[in-house]
Amino acid sequence: MTDIKANLESVIEKIKIAETKAGRKEGSVKLLAVSKFHPVEEIKQTLDAGQLMYGENRVQEACEKFPLLNDEYKNIDLHLIGQLQLNKVKKIIQYASTIESIDRIELLDEIEKQCARINRKIKILFELHTGEESKSGFESKQQIEDALERFAQNKYPHIIPSGFMTMAPFTDDKNLIRKSFITLKTVAKDLQIKYPMYELTELSMGMSNDYEIAIEEGSTIVRIGTAIFGERTYNK
Ligand SMILES: *Cc1c(COP(=O)(O)O)cnc(C)c1O
Repeated sequence: MTDIKANLESVIEKIKIAETKAGRKEGSVKLLAVSKFHPVEEIKQTLDAGQLMYGENRVQEACEKFPLLNDEYKNIDLHLIGQLQLNKVKKIIQYASTIESIDRIELLDEIEKQCARINRKIKILFELHTGEESKSGFESKQQIEDALERFAQNKYPHIIPSGFMTMAPFTDDKNLIRKSFITLKTVAKDLQIKYPMYELTELSMGMSNDYEIAIEEGSTIVRIGTAIFGERTYNK
């Protein structure tokens, strides 16, 4: 049996230690508990321990679990972290505060359209492809800049650009992982200078295996699944 509550407490402690070690303020890194493939009963264990931020990567699954949890708990903050299809936008914007996995402009067009319909605002992060293996994300800083240009032209009044997200490559090579985080940090810094009218302050980087490196490189959101909930079984 996985002791989810003990795992959560241990991760929170390790985040604090990493913040201090990196010379950062305590509380400057937010924990997004990645609950994909884990059932409502397990998520309740972390909610009971006070964890309010969750990440899911599939719309269908998120929209099955989180309405139930919202009935029972207040102030849950759900982020979508997986690839989003256009036809799922309408559904997810009802439940998520933030979509971290923005990887193309047509997605922004659809989010604006659907948010305008229900008069809701939503936060987004631009996902940048920085690792070799992973496939998701914008391919270059230029593409994100093109998207920000559209914000500057007031095309997206219902969308709040809030920062950037990346996934490091799946490797044991710490230098490669660090390189990926540094790339995101550098792009974020450049684009914040170019677009001072937006608060592009969030850097969502770091997962169970690499969050301590990510915190050293300036992460503000770590997305942690396995270290809290245990291994995922994909055949459910
Ligand atoms: C699954 C997932 C995570 C969490 O991964 P763990 O290794 O289980 O911590 C983080 N980010 C994204 C985008 C994911 O899909």
